[in-house]
Amino acid sequence: KRRIGVLTSGGDAPGMNGAVRAVVRMAIHYGCEAYAIYEGYDGLVKGGDMIKEMHWEDVRGFLSEGGTLIGTARCAEFRERPGRLQAAKNMIIKGIDALVICGGDGSLTGADTLRAEWQGLLKELVEKKELTEEQIKPFTHLNIVGLVGSIDNDLSMTDATIGCYSSLARICEAVDSVDTTATSHQRAFVIEVMGRHCGWLALMAGVSTGADFIFIPEEPPSENWQEEMCHVIKKHRAMGKRKTIVIVAEGAHDRELNKITPNMVKDLLTNQAGLDTRVTTLGHVQRGGTPSAYDRMLSTLQGVEAVRAVLDATPETPSPVICIIENKIVRRPLLEAIAQTKEVATAIEAKDFDRAMELRDAEFAE
Ligand code: ATP
Repeated sequence: KRRIGVLTSGGDAPGMNGAVRAVVRMAIHYGCEAYAIYEGYDGLVKGGDMIKEMHWEDVRGFLSEGGTLIGTARCAEFRERPGRLQAAKNMIIKGIDALVICGGDGSLTGADTLRAEWQGLLKELVEKKELTEEQIKPFTHLNIVGLVGSIDNDLSMTDATIGCYSSLARICEAVDSVDTTATSHQRAFVIEVMGRHCGWLALMAGVSTGADFIFIPEEPPSENWQEEMCHVIKKHRAMGKRKTIVIVAEGAHDRELNKITPNMVKDLLTNQAGLDTRVTTLGHVQRGGTPSAYDRMLSTLQGVEAVRAVLDATPETPSPVICIIENKIVRRPLLEAIAQTKEVATAIEAKDFDRAMELRDAEFAE
């Protein structure tokens, strides 16, 4: 019987449990055994009890739970070859030669590195007499399949990552709550949302709540943004608006890459626009809570596809990542998706914002 491992890694995202549930149940449906690896790559490196067989009923109730019930961690050891050697050994001991990873681009890169090194790692384990030739014989290739779990919607080649719509809904609820008090007191609120190289959450939250101004990393504001923002906001006030909402992505900066912080915006609104202004940092509230219906559906459909991709894989197939493009669940080469994602970050760091926006536009034009 084929044994498929599933783990969640990097920052938690609502919907990760739905992905684990779908992978476990689909693996069982196809006559395989499913194993949960607890605490991300930590569990793979530590082995033993951290890798547990999962039965159908073990994932009961997972669909509606937020976060990740099998845990996640940042694992420094897995970044180094000795950590991955230990991980390979633990996998062979448990008989696992296929992994479905739900995480961000870092987690998926790590998984593909393990696959690329696999044969070399097994050889080394035999040379070091940690395993025998007999033990490694059935495990010539490692299959990796990626699922993107991230609230930021920051992976290229997919329209939505698992968790982003739950997070967006939570942000909208929070902004709606702030709205009522802002309107009552005619106040301005500066709201910081997550997103380091990706302004999707800020942009979509701005659209969904009718914010007055937003700051995103891919498209910084004009050089005289201070005057521009105050002008727009004063204009909105002159039209009778009783509240002001400005949304700032965590990674917002000006065209010289100087960080634009919520407090900077607050000072401007207070001193130049004359508004009673408060800052609200949503922080981890954006990650928490139950997954939205969309994330339950997305994680389930993608988990199902991940198991199919494992079973279809040949040694020649590049590791796939399961995406959604124009409402269809599709496979894309994992390394290409990561390379394209990194290209956006590189363009931003090089202050080539036209390129960053061109890449973002291309993602949605596919
Ligand atoms: P998020 O989007 O939430 O940051 P992520 O998956 O990108 O998610 P990382 O902290 O980058 O989060 O990665 C999670 C874990 O994956 C790391 O702690 C490490 O164990 C592993 N990992 C990340 N990058 C690599 C790499 N280049 N090589 C090997 N392992 C890696």
